[in-house]
Amino acid sequence: MKHSNVAIFIPHNGCPNKCSFCEQNSITGKSLQPTLEDVKNTIELSIKNLGSRVKNTEIAFFGGSFTAIDKKYMNALLDLANKYVKEYSFAGIRISTRPDAIDNDILDVLKSKSVTSIELGAQSMDDRVLELNRRGHKKEDIVFSSKLIKEKGFSLGLQMMTGLYGSNINIDYDTGKQIVELNPDTVRIYPTVTMKNTLLHKLYNERKYFPMTFDETVEICSKLLILFEENHIRVIRLGLHYMKSLDENAIAGVWHPSFREICESKNFLNKIIQYISSNEVKHNIIIFVNGKNLSKVIGNNKCNIKKLNKMGYNVKVKKDDNLGERDLIIESF
Ligand code: SF4
Repeated sequence: MKHSNVAIFIPHNGCPNKCSFCEQNSITGKSLQPTLEDVKNTIELSIKNLGSRVKNTEIAFFGGSFTAIDKKYMNALLDLANKYVKEYSFAGIRISTRPDAIDNDILDVLKSKSVTSIELGAQSMDDRVLELNRRGHKKEDIVFSSKLIKEKGFSLGLQMMTGLYGSNINIDYDTGKQIVELNPDTVRIYPTVTMKNTLLHKLYNERKYFPMTFDETVEICSKLLILFEENHIRVIRLGLHYMKSLDENAIAGVWHPSFREICESKNFLNKIIQYISSNEVKHNIIIFVNGKNLSKVIGNNKCNIKKLNKMGYNVKVKKDDNLGERDLIIESF
């Protein structure tokens, strides 16, 4: 059965950090932390909707700084969620936090309150990029806390960002490789979006920060997708979730509701081109693919087919559900 989350967003109002991309300071006071009553209502509503799927669902406190918020509030949230985990057999509790907000004591507290999965906002494994973007932690914090989380038996998730200030495609790919070495269970990849009233916005106006283009972002994210998949690490998110504030406050950067599909589509095209260039392929091609991937092989607005047409190939794509999700069979005549 598919895993799901009851997602509860816990903004870190008054966060002392000032990450380059975060609009926290501009939203303080507008985005209130939920009360225990709000959280109770959200969980109870989800119990009604989930039915037996509750067993595959974690109660998830997202927001990125969970173990750095006020401890009394944090413990109250965990106690409340833990009560529902025990009564309704939820799979556990998931939290997301900063790499420098993890230590032995905090992990013991989390363990005692049914937390099963911890996601760390790593963002980059390059100390220079972390510093330029004022993350307030170093690569060694990510390595230390990741190892501790795994040693204590939690599921580890790592989040990374592409296109931060001072980064580039090579540095981002290297971050991906170093994340693989930490062997997380899951990864989320977020292309950087420049929001109003952030440091990135200022640097962008001063022409010191040049956001990655759409094509560059697709290129690096497609490569990262392959890297993680080849190393059996699940990419549970690629691209930002759509939020109204993105349309209202984003100045630059890449966000698209089908961003993952665009990257997967590019990977299929590359695979086809690689096959064509290393085999004797005639000009009429039939590509067989699992039905789930038909639209990805064809591409958005048939872009993959058009590219192959331009290369001189007549292409038909047919579904064959006996094929694995990443498999392709190419016949030519
Ligand atoms: S992203 Fe950075 S500034 Fe924003 S809430 Fe998290 S730690 Fe604080």
